[in-house]
Amino acid sequence: MSKIKVTNPATGELIEEISMQSNAEIELAIKNGHQAFQKWSKLDAHERSRLIQAWSAKVQENKEELAKLMTLENGKPLNEARGEIDYSTAYLDWYAEEAKRVYGRTIPANTNSKRIIVTREPIGLVAAITPWNFPTAMMARKAAPALAAGCTFIVKPASETPLSGMKFIDYAYEVGIPKDVIQYVMGEGKVVGEIFTKSERIRKITFTGSTAVGKQLIANSSENIQHVTMELGGHAPLIVTEDADIELAVQQTVAAKFRNAGQTCVCANRIIVHESVVDEFTEKFASEVKKLEVGNGLKEGIDIGPIINEKGYNKIVEQIEDAIAKGAEALVGNQFQVDKEKGCFFVYPTVLKNVTTEMTIMHEETFGPVAPIVSYKTLEEAVELANSTPYGLAAYFFTNDYRVGHYLHDHLQFGIIGWNDGGPSAAHAPFGGMKESGLGREGGIEGIEPYLETKYLSIGGL
Ligand code: NAP
Repeated sequence: MSKIKVTNPATGELIEEISMQSNAEIELAIKNGHQAFQKWSKLDAHERSRLIQAWSAKVQENKEELAKLMTLENGKPLNEARGEIDYSTAYLDWYAEEAKRVYGRTIPANTNSKRIIVTREPIGLVAAITPWNFPTAMMARKAAPALAAGCTFIVKPASETPLSGMKFIDYAYEVGIPKDVIQYVMGEGKVVGEIFTKSERIRKITFTGSTAVGKQLIANSSENIQHVTMELGGHAPLIVTEDADIELAVQQTVAAKFRNAGQTCVCANRIIVHESVVDEFTEKFASEVKKLEVGNGLKEGIDIGPIINEKGYNKIVEQIEDAIAKGAEALVGNQFQVDKEKGCFFVYPTVLKNVTTEMTIMHEETFGPVAPIVSYKTLEEAVELANSTPYGLAAYFFTNDYRVGHYLHDHLQFGIIGWNDGGPSAAHAPFGGMKESGLGREGGIEGIEPYLETKYLSIGGL
């Protein structure tokens, strides 16, 4: 049986070896999840709600242990891992409540001899595939609404970071959520993806990861007309206008750019600043970035952990080299600490100025701590630059002029917008992208919809 070696990206140490399941074992898990749906979907919503709430409390009881495990396998600073646990349980708490609010409706009929009733039903067994950058939060965003709606759930965590996600689900078992209601399976992404999309028992695929894999899953899901939710890549613009509060913009840009060492789908990747304030912004931003500490996320005071793997590291270095070769200047960073043998790759937070649209970094998703700054003259130009990407996940802007703010809100083609806010994600709000950033939304009242079917009943002869 083949195994996955889970290592610490900060030290190269082996954390654990876990077994991959065979195709037959994955098929069995699907069969069990499908059978468990009969009972779980009939459990009353208040009981499902109580169980999800208990799960959340159990995760919180074990927050420190879980956060440490996440830092070990993912590399993010311990404080960020703690924040991710809180963000994950916020989804459990929100959907524990939403379980009780899956409303139907009645529609006035066109004759008194009829009644029209609309009810909502859970969709069935849901299969999820999640990424390494938020090992528990991306799971919670899918599992919580699925279970709340009455669906059963099976997830394949990312190979780099399976441990904290598996532990997160183990806490669900500890509070009495049955094993076949929520399961994890380990296997190679492509193989598991194909098993999921080929299965008639699975009614929905929910995926967070790269746009390339998302496209494949959408294509394959057509075989059984499975429902899909896709949370894919991003390349967020961040606009600073001439009237912005520069101190606030700097502080929030640091947060929006460098969280998880710049390895998030909503990281501010293209910083677009009005020409009248670009020098002031760049100087203040660079001086804040210089203060960020790079190192092992388990150590106190670390802001930037390692890059997840060599492939990710190489892509970051290529983007920096390309920008510098085409005339950009690195004000801070462009430094690396690498031990290839151990598999440890650290990139120091880097600020690039004199960036132009010819540079790869302006077109290709950046997954690392690199902040390219470009200037603009007119708002129309800033919007055009911001929208000139196939992605449409998150965008940020900083302005104190409400007319400018509304103009930007109206014209930016992104699903999530932060106005003077570098951290808009919240369990109670809809998260998701336009264009090639995905399909559907997670979080908020929208997040449970994809797990529900609509059934319409017309009663005649009254
Ligand atoms: P990825 O390569 O697409 O991997 C994500 C998951 O898909 C992993 O579990 C992976 O398994 C699995 N996988 C890989 N190839 C597959 C295939 N052919 N069929 C089915 N599953 C497959 O993405 P990543 O590099 O880990 O994650 C970074 C990407 O995720 C970025 O593009 C980022 O923007 C995006 N992301 C989006 C959101 C959002 O909410 N929109 C949030 C976080 C991240 P293995 O690990 O076993 O390869």
